[in-house]
Amino acid sequence: MRHPTVRRNTLELEPGIHQLAHGLKPFGIPAPNVYLIQGTDASMFIDSGWDNEDDHAARMAYLKDVGGPPLTGVLITHRHGDHGGGALRIHQDTGVSTSAHRLDQQAIEAERFGGAATLDSILDGGESFDLGGLTLQVVHTPGHTVGSLTVLIPERNVMLSADTVLGMTTTVVRPSEGDLGKYVESLHMLRALKPGLIYPGHGEPLIDPDDRIRQLIDHRIHREEQILAELSKAPQSIDQLFQTIYPNLPEERQRIGKEQVESQLIKLTNEGRIVADGEVYALK
Ligand SMILES: [Zn+2]
Repeated sequence: MRHPTVRRNTLELEPGIHQLAHGLKPFGIPAPNVYLIQGTDASMFIDSGWDNEDDHAARMAYLKDVGGPPLTGVLITHRHGDHGGGALRIHQDTGVSTSAHRLDQQAIEAERFGGAATLDSILDGGESFDLGGLTLQVVHTPGHTVGSLTVLIPERNVMLSADTVLGMTTTVVRPSEGDLGKYVESLHMLRALKPGLIYPGHGEPLIDPDDRIRQLIDHRIHREEQILAELSKAPQSIDQLFQTIYPNLPEERQRIGKEQVESQLIKLTNEGRIVADGEVYALK
């Protein structure tokens, strides 16, 4: 009898849907998930993990090991190095096409491809890839980054949420890359799609998607109420609000914490609920 092969950091979650989680754990959260989706006619990678030789070799070895229909593409969910980093190596090794959303294109080509290559296909959301028995439906879910994509597989009622919905942490929204107002809209949109299961960009599958997305929406409402309550006492700067809202945050997380406050203030300003006077924000 042939024993099943144990492959480090990889798992076939359900027939045709494989999770590969190689490499570094950013900020202590699990390594980025690369999903290999295999229909009857074609295979595709959703995301590509970090850009380094060892992780790339592990992904290619897994692909060779599982076999299946030919690899036809790598879809990059967003601009960050733990998701799009390995795409160029996969492209160079296999010749398959790379694709990502238009609004993250520039950052991916500059930061992930080092200006040495361009994406083969630019997505806007609404596209689908027919792999034979499994369809990848591309949904634009801006927020974490302006070009963030979520992929649905309707035949299985599953959703690949990348960093838009995570189980072990809330999602970072940096003003320079993302948009908190749009992020909350994206969460409502994904919730309305009623996925049966979410395969996130880091960590294990989320078995109660509705509950998790609701928690994430509630978290943003809670933070917003905290900021509005603080501003009702007195106009304040980002630094002042940060001290109250994120007390005792470890040194290495402080910059990100301040960026979250700033994203929240931009959202409230856009909604006309607060106004900025120089560096100080006040209720309208
Ligand atoms: Zn990310």
